[in-house]
Amino acid sequence: MIDILNYIIGEDDKSKYPFLPEVGKQMTGRNIQDFLNSELPILENAKDRIIYSLKNGTSPEFDETIEMKTISKYSFPIAMLLVRSTNQSYLISRFALAESRRVEDILHNENPDVIPQIFKTILNVKLSQSKDINEESNVTSEFLVKNRFKYKISLSDYLSRSISLPKNQWRLVNRSVSSGYVFLTQDELITLLREEIYQMIRSKIEELKIPPALLEDESMKSTLEQILKVAPRPPKAKIQVFSGEYPPCVAKAIEMIQKGDQVPHSGKFLMTTFLLRAGKTVDDVIDMYPTNLGFNQNITRYQVEHIAGLKGGGTKYDVPSCSTMKMKDFCYKTDACGTIKNPLQFNGKTPVKKNGRKNS
Ligand code: SF4
Repeated sequence: MIDILNYIIGEDDKSKYPFLPEVGKQMTGRNIQDFLNSELPILENAKDRIIYSLKNGTSPEFDETIEMKTISKYSFPIAMLLVRSTNQSYLISRFALAESRRVEDILHNENPDVIPQIFKTILNVKLSQSKDINEESNVTSEFLVKNRFKYKISLSDYLSRSISLPKNQWRLVNRSVSSGYVFLTQDELITLLREEIYQMIRSKIEELKIPPALLEDESMKSTLEQILKVAPRPPKAKIQVFSGEYPPCVAKAIEMIQKGDQVPHSGKFLMTTFLLRAGKTVDDVIDMYPTNLGFNQNITRYQVEHIAGLKGGGTKYDVPSCSTMKMKDFCYKTDACGTIKNPLQFNGKTPVKKNGRKNS
C-alpha cells in the first residue's frame, strides 16, 4: 500500500475542478471586472453554464481546447457569483447539484493518482491508494483483484459517511476491512462522498459576499436578467396533505426543504416525525423532499422508513418536544404556540401520548 498525496494539480485539473484553491490563487490580485470584460467569453460562458445547468440538471460539456479549458476554469467562479446574486435558494441548489453531477461523472473515470489529492483538498478526507495488495493482511489478493478495490479509507471516516446510505452493501459486516481501513472501488468511493461534493459546492456559493458595486455593473445586471428570464420556478410546496395549521417550526422546515435551503438534521427529523404522526404515509413524506434539489430518494426513503419504525429495530420515533427543538435552535415560536410542550399540541390539535416511541 502506498500513500499518494504528492500529486501536483495541473491546468487540466483546474478546469475540471474549478473550485480547487489553486484556481482561487490564480485569481488573487485580479479584479472581477477583468474577468467580466475579458477578451475571452468568460461571462457569456458562465451564463450558458448556469442556464444549461438549471434546465438540464447537469453542467454542459466543454471542448478540450486550451482556450476552452481556461474559459471554463474561470467561468465557474463567475457563475457562482451570478447564482449567488440571484439570492434564490432554489437556483443555488439546482446549480450546485448540476455542477456536483458534472464532477461525479469526471471522477468516475479519473486517474486513480489524482483522486486522493482531490478529496484531501476539497473534503479533507484522507485516502490511501491500495496498490500493493499483498500488504493488506486479512484480504486475499485474488479478492482484491476481482473487486478492483483502489482505495482505503479510515474506519471512522467511513462510518460517519456510510451511516445514511441505505443498501446492505454499505454495512460494515459486508465490507472488506483490514487494520482499521475499509476498502472501496472508485465508484463506491464517489457514491460515499457524492453528497459532500454537492454540499461543498453549495456552501461555497452561499458563503460568497457580493460587493454591492458588482450588482451595479451593466454586464452583470444584463446577464442576471437573461438568466432570471429563463430560470425554472421552484415547485409549489406540497403542504396540503395535513389539514391543520402547521406549527411554525414544522412550517419552517417544510419551507426550507422545498426551497432547497440547507436544513439541519433536527429540522428534517421534526418534519418527518410530525408529518407521520399527522397521518401522512411514508411515500407522502418522501415526496416532500425534492429530488431535483439534491435529495437522494433512496437515502430519504431509508431515513423516513427508519424514523417510521419500518427499518432497524422497529422503533418508531416520536415528535421532539418544544424544549428539545429550542435546544437544537430550531424553535420559531410565535404567540400562537402559547405554552405548548410539543409541536403536536399546536392549535390544541393533538395531545401528546407516550406510546413507547423514541425521541431523537
Ligand atoms: S414553541 Fe414548539 S411548536 Fe412553537 S415553534 Fe417552538 S418548537 Fe415549534
